[in-house]
Amino acid sequence: MTTSIPSEADWDYAPGLLEGAMELELTAEQCGLRYWLQAVPQGTLRGRPDGYDPALKVGPHMLQGPFYDAITQEYAFRALAEEKATRVLSFLVASAPDLTSMEFYATQLIDECRHSMVFRNHLLSLGVPVQRLTEAVHEFAAPYVESVLDPLEQRCLEVMRDERDFIGGVVMITVILEGALAPAAELSERKWRPIDPAAAEIDKGAGIDEIRHLTVGADVGRRWLQEHPKDKDRVVAMIRRGMEMWDELPTHDMVYDREVRFQAGLELHADIVGDYEIWPGRRLLDTTPQERQDTADAWSDDMKAKRLKYMGLEDALG
Ligand code: FE
Ligand code: FE
Repeated sequence: MTTSIPSEADWDYAPGLLEGAMELELTAEQCGLRYWLQAVPQGTLRGRPDGYDPALKVGPHMLQGPFYDAITQEYAFRALAEEKATRVLSFLVASAPDLTSMEFYATQLIDECRHSMVFRNHLLSLGVPVQRLTEAVHEFAAPYVESVLDPLEQRCLEVMRDERDFIGGVVMITVILEGALAPAAELSERKWRPIDPAAAEIDKGAGIDEIRHLTVGADVGRRWLQEHPKDKDRVVAMIRRGMEMWDELPTHDMVYDREVRFQAGLELHADIVGDYEIWPGRRLLDTTPQERQDTADAWSDDMKAKRLKYMGLEDALG
């Protein structure tokens, strides 16, 4: 029996995360549980239960030194962020106003839970002993758990758990969290590609899921606001507050730290990277931490603006 895999979820045909999130339109009606069963377990993830082709092995240059420091900090942080996202999404599933959005958010919940698992388990491939995994995740991520993750989680819990505000939660997740994090994920996939191909595949698979989360989230938000125009001012205020949080939290320091370690790895292992281009016409070896960070920030601004316009929330851009 064959099942048809939609091209946006097909490993070989899916667009990149940024391109897909900017160009595609998907709805919760299209992306229900039945769609997910065919598109994701039997599509995107076929042959990649751990998020990457099992034939890919982690090279010795990843097992110690600056690349090890960069990826363990990054993946541990992302494993925890995805874990927290999974837990808060349960409140969005609970408060979904209809079966269509309930099904979609239930699939997103499993996607985020899977992301947490694959980021966490990649630490095993990097040599962390399995008995120490949970502890190691917390240690590697430690510098930015209290200062970045906890306040964002707290804000999500206020909106989704305490206020049971469905549309507030949708917008929080789509614009403030995933909208802002997606460009960092795209950067990650591009920069690890020649250095740790298994990691790049983990990022690619998560990115395919993310296209769905961002496009469906934007459609849910847009339609809700068309039907409930009175909610608009409240949602705009919520987005502004979320964007302010993003500016106040040390997210820039976190990404910069990561990029500095990555840079030290590039200098040590230039032979592995060779002439690989991180984006057309630009060799990864010629980039700097600031340049990579600025590029991801510019992608983030573009994506935020486009998403907000699509939902009719351009007022939030101030
Ligand atoms: Fe995720
Ligand atoms: Fe997501």
